[in-house]
Amino acid sequence: MGTAAVGGPVTPLGAGGSAPGDRGVSLGDTGRTGGPHPVVLGATGLLGGTFDPIHVGHLMIAEEVRETLGLERVLFVPAGIPPHKPDRPITPAPHRVAMIELAIAGNPAFELSRLEVDRAGPSYAVDTLELLASDVRARGGEPDLTFIVSAEAFVELPTWRDPARLLSLCRMAVVPRAGRGSPGAAWLDAHIPGSHERVIFLDGPNLDLSATRIRRRVAAGRSIRYLVPDAVIAYIADHALYRTEPGRTDRP
Ligand code: ATP
Repeated sequence: MGTAAVGGPVTPLGAGGSAPGDRGVSLGDTGRTGGPHPVVLGATGLLGGTFDPIHVGHLMIAEEVRETLGLERVLFVPAGIPPHKPDRPITPAPHRVAMIELAIAGNPAFELSRLEVDRAGPSYAVDTLELLASDVRARGGEPDLTFIVSAEAFVELPTWRDPARLLSLCRMAVVPRAGRGSPGAAWLDAHIPGSHERVIFLDGPNLDLSATRIRRRVAAGRSIRYLVPDAVIAYIADHALYRTEPGRTDRP
């Protein structure tokens, strides 16, 4: 799957970082890349979310970004109290964490991060990135962080806490989500001027799948096979999760 980045090259975060050209990421052109990029030691992706539950959409975007940018690892960072979803009950963190662990068990490049679930209060991406960057520096390294986000979440970036600081701590890999709009260069210029170098748009995968849909299907007694890993299906059944889903009115 190719990538399309807007504007000039993505700058490394520090002396130990690597330029995007080193990763085969084509910038400012058709966005096609030559294929998987060799692993860049220390390069770390972060996929934050509620993961209620984790599904194959999460796993596929993480794998796509990992392979395309040559990330050494991708951290799955479940939110404790998600700042963007204050209005619906969230499944307790231990269940969401357990399902992530089951889902990523077979991929040595995927790791769970408990940073947000172990922290009191709302989880802001900028705080998490600060902590990760300081941790790398404390061990004598230079942070090389890529925040993975879907396009429809990315367009909310101007409303997030301290977006400028966030973009100084990481670059962002934006993946499309089927059926939702995708921002482009003009949007970036209008809403986050000067961010071109920090944002990479990938052109896939394009999956019309959400945790909401999974929860609704479980509540409706429908199969979720092939939408979440088998071990997660078993966990959901064993713990009787999602038997009722508030506001279940549309397609399951
Ligand atoms: P919900 O339906 O409960 O809102 P979700 O499926 O969007 O959940 P989250 O845990 O909120 O899942 O997502 C974490 C991150 O993964 C977000 O950036 C989200 O936009 C992204 N994401 C989730 N599903 C997809 C998908 N099918 N394609 C691309 N990105 C996705």
